[in-house]
Amino acid sequence: MVVKMENLEKERTFLMMKPDGVVRGLTGEVIKRVERCGLKLVALKMFQATRDQIDEHYPKDEGWMKRIGEKTKVNYEKYGLDVATLGTTDNLKIGQMVRGWLLDYLTSAPMIKMVIEGPHAVDLVRKMAGNTIPAQAEMGTIRGDFSVDSAAFANRDKRAIFNVVHASETPEEAEHEIDFWFGIDEINEYERVEESTYKIKR
Ligand code: ADP
Ligand code: MG
Repeated sequence: MVVKMENLEKERTFLMMKPDGVVRGLTGEVIKRVERCGLKLVALKMFQATRDQIDEHYPKDEGWMKRIGEKTKVNYEKYGLDVATLGTTDNLKIGQMVRGWLLDYLTSAPMIKMVIEGPHAVDLVRKMAGNTIPAQAEMGTIRGDFSVDSAAFANRDKRAIFNVVHASETPEEAEHEIDFWFGIDEINEYERVEESTYKIKR
């Protein structure tokens, strides 16, 4: 697939403060990081999600669930822990279990949903969020700076990893999530000052 430069310039991604981020008062901190790097906030809302909504938000395909199982196993092995204590060693079953815990986690308090726009928005916001597992996220990233969790601790307590934010992984994932969480009329258009005053010729 060939991507047009104009589309890349206005690439959009979906960023969501998870309940742990909201109740810890980290919302401003996260928005500040997005804005200071030059990306544009074009939609924002606090809301309480339902279980059905979270079920629609995350992919349902087996590939996605198996990948979560795989990542979990790698994390267990890294710390010399026995993945069998989860009750299964099957990647798909582990993924299904985590998906269930995500419904509990993301409905436990309000969240803040956002659409962020700008060149390479998906990759940049993903980079800012950091590794899924906070113990492996670099310092300087949101997850690295503000959380200490791991798959091993989360799974021992039969819960999802608390990692402050959700960020779309690919432009396709972003499109699905933005369409799902926002109406077209809820997304705003404006020029950030540097777009007109110090315009980078794109
Ligand atoms: P990311 O949020 O970085 O895109 P994934 O899409 O792989 O990560 O997983 C979605 C969310 O599921 C993670 O952010 C995390 O909250 C949770 N999660 C992932 N793997 C596990 C796991 N092994 N145990 C508990 N929760 C997990
Ligand atoms: Mg993901």
